[in-house]
Parts: sequence; C-alpha cells; structure tokens
Amino acid sequence: MPTLATKSKLTEGRADMTQIKIAIDGPASSGKSTVAKIIAQNLGYTYLDTGAMYRSATYLALKNGVSVTDEEGIIQLLKQYPISFGRSESGEQLVFVGDVDVTLPIRDNEVTNNVSAVSALPKVRETLVALQQKIAKQGSIIMDGRDIGTVVLPDAELKIFLIASVEERAERRYKENIAKGIETDFESLKEEIAARDYKDSNRSVSPLKPAADAITFDTTGIDIQGVVDFIQEKAKKMIDKA
Ligand code: C5P
Repeated sequence: MPTLATKSKLTEGRADMTQIKIAIDGPASSGKSTVAKIIAQNLGYTYLDTGAMYRSATYLALKNGVSVTDEEGIIQLLKQYPISFGRSESGEQLVFVGDVDVTLPIRDNEVTNNVSAVSALPKVRETLVALQQKIAKQGSIIMDGRDIGTVVLPDAELKIFLIASVEERAERRYKENIAKGIETDFESLKEEIAARDYKDSNRSVSPLKPAADAITFDTTGIDIQGVVDFIQEKAKKMIDKA
C-alpha cells in the first residue's frame, strides 16, 4: 500500500543544488501542470499536482455516494482513504486513495464538474493544505494549483501566475482530448472551463488569485517550451543567487 508521498517516491532533488520553492497558480487548463512537470524534471525538483488532491477527494465522495457538499463526510473518507503519490515504471506520477490507483478516473468529466464544490469546503482545504505543506518540507519543490502562492507556500521564492484566454485554453484541452481519442464538444469544454474559473475565483476560502508578489504571465499564443523557458530562467537566477 502506498504511504504518504514518501521522499523516495516523490523527491528527486539533487543534493548539490540550492533548494527553492516554486509556486505556479492559474485558472483551469492554463498549462500549469504541463510546464511544472517539465521544469521539475529539468531541475531535479519534486513536482506536486495539488489539483489531483482536490480531484481525489471529489472522486471519493462520488464513488461512496457522499454529497459533494458534505464536509464531514468527505473528511471521514480522506481519513479512511489517505491520498498518496507514487511513480509508474515509466516515470509517470500516480495518485492513490488508500491503495487504489485513481490517476485516470480523477480526470473524468464527472469529477471535473464537481471538483469546485469540494474544493470550496474549508475543512477539506485545511486537510489538503496541511498535507501539501508537509510534502513541501522535504525540500526543492514545484507545486501547481490555485492558492499555492497565497496560502500553501506564501514564502515561495518564485511565484508565477499563468493566464490565457478561455478560447485558447479550451483549444489546448480540445486538441489534447482528441489526441487521446476522447470525444469532446468544443463549446461544452469552453463553458466548463469558464464555469470552473468563476467558481474557483469567487469562493470565500482561498479563491484563485495571484499573490501580491507573483509574476503574472499571459501564455496566449506562447507554446509550452516558451512558458518553460520563461519560468526556468527566473528559477535558475534565484537558485544561482541563493
Ligand atoms: O488543477 P486542476 O484543474 O486539476 O484542479 C482541479 C480543481 O481543484 C480546481 O478547479 C479547483 O477547484 C481545485 N483546486 C483548488 N486549489 C488548488 C488546486 C486545485 O481549489 N490548489
């Protein structure tokens, strides 16, 4: 059974590199996890996908017939089926609840369409933020989400807030889905992204917003490598300085 994100599973930080914390926030499908994964690999940093944790809590509620607004019910499920991370033989990050691999099912539409309700529950956030901060203590880390720069890692040395038009984000996700053979309706995708942005930005606890000291970067019209280069250049300067 996988244990809580152990160092051997998640941490690949190099001992010779000065460690900084990198926070990447932004709205749905802004490319955060794609670029964070690449940068983590290039720098030898741990990557933590915090969205996967809110998705896992949502999956648990749906799977167990617990309402997505039942805060206590979801907290109990998280105790019963702790979230942990592992790695496949090919190096892909895997997500578990208890000993069940939920890496793929947490991307289902049903989870995506309900996750903003679960992530608005204060006690669920408290539980997951504590877990995220515990994992961050292990050292050099790049974390992506909605509240990393504002709440989870307020002392992160580098904070990036990625934005892009809804049209462009929907197009990127549409192309990804088609490449994976997932049938997708472009207009519904656009509506889903806009609806999730609205809910995530307007909730009362830890809404999606840039930290005062974050660098906002509009990735509209910029490819993945361009975004990686932008962030990595800033990270390297900080690592060299530290
Ligand atoms: O990043 P991803 O799109 O997978 O996140 C799924 C959802 O999890 C978001 O729409 C948001 O409701 C929630 N989330 C959050 N705080 C984070 C990361 C994700 O509220 N740090």
